[in-house]
Amino acid sequence: MCEQRDIPHRKTGKLIVAADDTETPELSKIRQRAEMNGIDDLSFLSRKQLRAMEPEVRAHEALFSPSTGIIDTHALMQSFFIKAQSGGATIVFHSDVTGIHPCNGLYEIEVNQGEYRFRTRVIINCAGLHADRVASVAGIDIDERGYRLMYCKGSYFSASPSPKLSHLVYPVPQEEQVGLGIHATLDLAGRVRFGPDTEYVGDLEYTVDEEKGDAFWQSVQRYLPCVQKQHLHPDTSGIRPKLQGPGDPYRDFVITEESAAGYPGLINLIGIESPGLTSCIPIARYVSRLVGSYLN
Ligand SMILES: Cc1cc2nc3c(=O)[nH]c(=O)nc-3n(C[C@H](O)[C@H](O)[C@H](O)COP(=O)(O)OP(=O)(O)OC[C@H]3O[C@@H](n4cnc5c(N)ncnc54)[C@H](O)[C@@H]3O)c2cc1C
Repeated sequence: MCEQRDIPHRKTGKLIVAADDTETPELSKIRQRAEMNGIDDLSFLSRKQLRAMEPEVRAHEALFSPSTGIIDTHALMQSFFIKAQSGGATIVFHSDVTGIHPCNGLYEIEVNQGEYRFRTRVIINCAGLHADRVASVAGIDIDERGYRLMYCKGSYFSASPSPKLSHLVYPVPQEEQVGLGIHATLDLAGRVRFGPDTEYVGDLEYTVDEEKGDAFWQSVQRYLPCVQKQHLHPDTSGIRPKLQGPGDPYRDFVITEESAAGYPGLINLIGIESPGLTSCIPIARYVSRLVGSYLN
């Protein structure tokens, strides 16, 4: 699709690296899980093979995914935007859904506190960090349904001088971890960033705390010993809408049509965090099937 639509992307490949032999069983589990999901191109690399591929990375063993890649997300959104418009969609910006009222078998949607209203049979609530609020505005009890979102900030640091990497490099995920661990990411310009970490926050505040430099360095130097603490600088951050709170067991995101809860035609997508971008097309197809089966 990226090739057809001229969306900049690159199959960088990804390395998941085991720092020592205690971490290698986890690599095997990841490979098994990948195979169960139809990904059959993962291979193990010895320390020597890894050195040849990424001379600056130190690890006992690695799992290599050749088909992992990176994409220009803005170009992807632009492409979806154009495709939707050419298919007849009207897209409006700066328009907050502030009310949802059932009305003769339809829903009346109030926008920007009543600036305008329209009626619809189907609502797809994919409001990201505010999806719980939109569900609540429709009348759903988000605590009873387990839809209340928690904000989990992910900060990044960059390094200067930057290590020379050509693959994404991930540590083995630890069991108690909320995210995937501080990994090395690449952008299409070849810039390396480390992150994201995980920090539950109360507000949507995106400043990257310089004080985290030490924790980042501790994580990064396990697989990239060439990176010195003084090389790391705060970069950007993002915030995940999480259904799982601190210390809670893992919870996957929710995609559901709410007829059973008394809201026919309301489709809620709650807690769409990573890999929401990677999975955006399958998610859209799934939602499209939900809409189709509701309307038919
Ligand atoms: C630090 C970080 C790293 C990530 N890395 C990856 C990764 O490597 N791979 C991956 O696949 N995913 C990754 N993700 C996750 C990915 O970014 C998300 O899953 C994805 O962006 C979710 O898309 P969305 O459309 O559901 O939500 P969003 O992109 O948040 O869009 C929600 C939209 O709803 C709008 N909205 C909100 N409230 C209202 C309202 N009341 N009325 C009208 N509109 C409203 C917002 O303005 C916004 O446009 C990462 C996320 C973070 C934070």
